[in-house]
Amino acid sequence: MARTFSKSELIRQDKVCKSLERLISYDAKTFNDFLHLFLDDIVKQTGSRKGYVIRVFEKNQSFELTEIIVHSDNHRFSNENIKVYELTKAGPWIQAFNKKKLFVQNCGSVLFTVNEDNSISEVVERFCSFPVISGNSLNAVLIIADKEADYDVDDIEPLELLVSPVRSIAGYLGKFEELTIAKDNAEKNEQRKISYLNNISHEIKTPVNAIAGFAQLMKEDPSSGNNQKFLDIILESSNELVAIINNVAEISNIESGLTRIRKDEVLLSDVFNELAEQFKDEVSRRNLILQTDIGVSGDEIKILTDRIRLLQIMSALLSNALKFTFTGKIIFGYNLRNDFLEFFVSDTGIGIPKEEIDKVFDHFFQTGGSILKSFKGTGLGLTMSKALVEKMGGEIWCDSVEGKGSVFHFTVPYEQAVISPVYGFQSVNEGKTDNRKKIILIAEDDNINFMLIKNFLSSLDIVLMRAVNGKEAVDICSSNKVDLVLMDIKMPVMDGFIAGAIIKKSNPDQIIIAQTAYTNDRETALDKGFNDFIAKPFGKTQLINLINSYLTLTHKN
Ligand code: ADP
Repeated sequence: MARTFSKSELIRQDKVCKSLERLISYDAKTFNDFLHLFLDDIVKQTGSRKGYVIRVFEKNQSFELTEIIVHSDNHRFSNENIKVYELTKAGPWIQAFNKKKLFVQNCGSVLFTVNEDNSISEVVERFCSFPVISGNSLNAVLIIADKEADYDVDDIEPLELLVSPVRSIAGYLGKFEELTIAKDNAEKNEQRKISYLNNISHEIKTPVNAIAGFAQLMKEDPSSGNNQKFLDIILESSNELVAIINNVAEISNIESGLTRIRKDEVLLSDVFNELAEQFKDEVSRRNLILQTDIGVSGDEIKILTDRIRLLQIMSALLSNALKFTFTGKIIFGYNLRNDFLEFFVSDTGIGIPKEEIDKVFDHFFQTGGSILKSFKGTGLGLTMSKALVEKMGGEIWCDSVEGKGSVFHFTVPYEQAVISPVYGFQSVNEGKTDNRKKIILIAEDDNINFMLIKNFLSSLDIVLMRAVNGKEAVDICSSNKVDLVLMDIKMPVMDGFIAGAIIKKSNPDQIIIAQTAYTNDRETALDKGFNDFIAKPFGKTQLINLINSYLTLTHKN
């Protein structure tokens, strides 16, 4: 037998159907839009005078009152001053959230308490609170209040029937919002990547243009009197190109998480001496003063940190200080601040305009002043330094006054290392008198690279051998007394890592230096027991100095 409905039941069913129809037709793209439209609807349907939207953040145990609507003489007010309150300050309406069902109170009630910190007070005669719980982080409670008469079954029943569909819609909107955010982020990343690549290709084209152009001029007129000048420009431009490529590779390794930070035992006085040595010629040529200021007294400080990265950051800051200073002093040093060592480089140079200070760490950024005065640079040194410092667990920042000078600071965690008497690598030949010519094996499959290395080392009194793959390198090492192997990594037949491991296994004292164009091979090479690493492209002096730190080399007469 078909069920018969009373008139009031039919009216309620009709209300629910209409509400559902409206819910489906809302043009809500966000959770907030939806809350706003739904509140408006239920305020009108129940003849309430007031409505409130409250976002609830269970994780932080807090809530926000995001909207108040007051319908009186068709006036509507919204809360423009959103504040966060502790969930403990919530009124009885919170029961709708806790119990996940409608909560009604038909006697006067304080919805929110007034606090000394200026939070609001809302007192209503009666209210009904409605839970909107999406199943993820999007949660809210809607409150309708101050209907003329009590909220009765005619209001409550249709609203109760809406709790479940509203929950489904909120869940769907939550997913939609997550997808929209993910899509926006992906689009922004894509945009950033495109402009980054555009910048890189622009920065690379400038030195390449000079190299190709001047080489062409030299080829056309090999006996021109200008050729020495052209060669200088070609060299300078290739150094610039190498700097850009190294920085870009380093930054992309750090940003994509490929860089690992080592914990070497680092004697800071060694690092500071090395830096002073590196910059001393330029300082004296430019009539500047370079000083150190160490704020830590007592014993020598030896810490656990990545030596090469520390040198890289300090060098980048010192070369900037030199570049942008014409008279006065450059001071570099460090202080102990709680659990961190704070390093600094200060200069009395051109300074940085206040509004540009925050941007100097951005990719390719150069201040207006430095562009106008056309200082050479890539705008990547500070980006790389920032990425490295953060990777090492510290922070970097800058204080600067235009026209007076700048101070760059950065911190690294202070992990003290135990002082041991010996530091650095020991040459296998140390202490022995060995008059035979040193044998250096170059494992390199690329003919042009081999030719370059051979020419770089041509002034040295050594015997040079070549292997064109890892397997040949292993064979040569097993049948010759090789003093040092310069091992390329990416080679056919057997790669340099495997070859190095085999050689080290049978002769742990064999000195092997990895040479590769992939900067992130450095960590792998050192982890695999290689003695050192040199990143391509490298220069003649850099290569000879590195080999010299393992072997005592003599020059040909
Ligand atoms: P660049 O290779 O151009 O020096 P950086 O990332 O190292 O790249 O520096 C970015 C910019 O920040 C510089 O071009 C310069 O405008 C500004 N800057 C960096 N260090 C200093 C400094 N010590 N004094 C003045 N300006 C500086």
